[in-house]
Amino acid sequence: MKIHEYQAKEILQRYGVPVPAGRMVTTTEQAHEVAKSLSRQAGAVVVVKAQIHAGGRGKGGGVKVCRSADEARDRAGEMLGMTLRTHQTGPEGQEVRRLLIEEGVSIAKELYAGFVLDRETQRVTFMLSNEGGVDIEEVAATHPEKIIKVAIDPLTGLMPYQIRQACFAIGLKAELHRKAEKMFRGLYDAVIDTDASILEVNPLIITQEGDLLALDAKMNFDENALFRQPQIVELRDLDEEDPKEVEAKKFDLSYIALEGNIGCMVNGAGLAMSTMDIIKYAGGSPANFLDVGGGATAEKVAAAFRIILADPNVKAVLVNIFGGIMKCDVIASGIIAAAKQTELRVPVVARLEGTNVELGKKMLKESGLNLTSADDMQDAATKVVALARA
Ligand code: GDP
Ligand code: MN
Repeated sequence: MKIHEYQAKEILQRYGVPVPAGRMVTTTEQAHEVAKSLSRQAGAVVVVKAQIHAGGRGKGGGVKVCRSADEARDRAGEMLGMTLRTHQTGPEGQEVRRLLIEEGVSIAKELYAGFVLDRETQRVTFMLSNEGGVDIEEVAATHPEKIIKVAIDPLTGLMPYQIRQACFAIGLKAELHRKAEKMFRGLYDAVIDTDASILEVNPLIITQEGDLLALDAKMNFDENALFRQPQIVELRDLDEEDPKEVEAKKFDLSYIALEGNIGCMVNGAGLAMSTMDIIKYAGGSPANFLDVGGGATAEKVAAAFRIILADPNVKAVLVNIFGGIMKCDVIASGIIAAAKQTELRVPVVARLEGTNVELGKKMLKESGLNLTSADDMQDAATKVVALARA
């Protein structure tokens, strides 16, 4: 689960990590008021930052340094409601509904600091680099040695000597080491306490005055830990999430939207993965990953089918069910119910196997729906790819 920059900065502040003064706003008038009060305290410069769940905002026009409160109001007016496109949003972009108005700071140097759960070492890895700012992906690709990596033992946590080694390795001035140690321990504690899967501060800056400051903050959280993180769950912004995935979560379905045009309705994560593979082998492209689960009811199956059909890219649907705990007739009645509620505008190929398969097939056949049945997975994939092309 992702949150906004301003929310991440509120969390970090509680861990003693210095961040610029600022406030989130949703209207031009609020932006003006906040900019006026900030520029009174901190000189004239304020920064207007679009709050969307994607990075690369600076390059896409979502970060504006303003010389006055009036200019901040004007930039805020332009930004609110605009569709911001960055390399992380994809071509469709993301609508800007919230802004962070911050005091401007004078940057002497931009660093990068990150914490990420590394599956290979099974540890949180601390990353630090001299080459912070908007091009860290480029640095990672062309000069990986410029990013210092430290694996953290979960029993000891991030040790002071590890921080010092990393600081020396990037050539950070010795007088900043004490501040760096306090900041990185604060960041690490925030990661552990909130079950974050990623925490990135890019840029982490050295100000002209010689202070360290988190100028940007990105946090993602492990969804499997949300049950014990009610305060994090409250930060969820559904406007930023795929509406199909939000709907799927309500029904406890494992659904992930993809770019292709063949909708997939499958039970079991393994079968769902191999269904996507076999569609690819047959020359097609899946529109989603969907596991309806073992004990799905007809209502849940109907919800899944509606979500698949709500995707305008979907040109054909492949239903691939192995009826073990899940019975084929339950799947059939779910599909029939969903097709009655939503007009079935695309062909459906069904491959059913297992418990009550004969009954399921019979129900589908007698439903009068535009259905093609398939004998096995290969046959199903070939048929659905052909129908999606037609
Ligand atoms: P991102 O592009 O989405 O990662 O957004 P960031 O918050 O990292 O902002 C992008 C860039 O804007 C930073 O690397 C800074 O160079 C610049 N920037 C952000 N805030 C300030 C500020 O207060 N003063 C100045 N001078 N530049 C800033
Ligand atoms: Mn950034």
